[in-house]
Amino acid sequence: MMKIDVLTLFPEMFSGVLGHSILHKAAEKSAVQYNVVNFRDYADNKHQTVDDYPYGGGAGMVLKPQPLFDAVAALKEQAESNRTRVILLCPQGKRYDQKTAEELAKEEHLIFVCGHYEGYDERIREHVVTDEISIGDYVLTGGELGAMVVIDSVVRLLPEVLGNQESHMKDSFSTGLLEHPHYTRPSDFRGMKVPEVLLQGNHKLIEEWRNKEALRRTYLRRPDLLEKIELTKEQEKWLNEIKKEYE
Ligand code: SAM
Repeated sequence: MMKIDVLTLFPEMFSGVLGHSILHKAAEKSAVQYNVVNFRDYADNKHQTVDDYPYGGGAGMVLKPQPLFDAVAALKEQAESNRTRVILLCPQGKRYDQKTAEELAKEEHLIFVCGHYEGYDERIREHVVTDEISIGDYVLTGGELGAMVVIDSVVRLLPEVLGNQESHMKDSFSTGLLEHPHYTRPSDFRGMKVPEVLLQGNHKLIEEWRNKEALRRTYLRRPDLLEKIELTKEQEKWLNEIKKEYE
């Protein structure tokens, strides 16, 4: 079972996300265990202060090293696994993607460190953390939303969390392409019709249509992804046909 610890100053923020839907069911099925901890509890000063003014002056407060050093050490000690990834959410970190989600889903113990305020004391980054992750090129008020994004995308990949094991294998990015379009009933909604091929029950043709449409989507929306994967001969042929349609 994967163990996920979260260090935050705002533990209440997690109850909504971890307490509902697939993330909640994953814990019920014992695929994962969550433990959300307020690292203020580890502050060893009288007023449980976790931040202080920056040396050298300037705006904003900086998270002190002691509470986070001690909180991470305590969580590592409690863990059954001796291999822990300590993940700092940070706009300066490596940009998060599906490949990293797949890599993290193989781990046994993750600790997420959610910053707040202006920043962290640099010694936390250097001595406590194993990974720094950014969820995009913008600045949030805290690491909590970032941690939730990463937890959500990792937990859904754990075995037995999604009902149909295949369902995440064809997701956008898992194959290197964006996913094909989906349709459900009715086949004619106010004159807007579902592509004929999907109604005829020929699974080979349906698969081919889906593969082509995934290529089309990726070509139109994220051509950069096509440069990162090796296409089969058949895919290359389809892609050339698709390109011609837009000339
Ligand atoms: N002064 C910092 C800088 O310029 O790099 C930004 C601090 S930000 C206001 C406060 C916290 O929000 C960060 O420490 C980090 O935990 C989190 N955060 C902000 N943007 C993020 C992003 N794009 N991805 C992940 N975490 C982020």
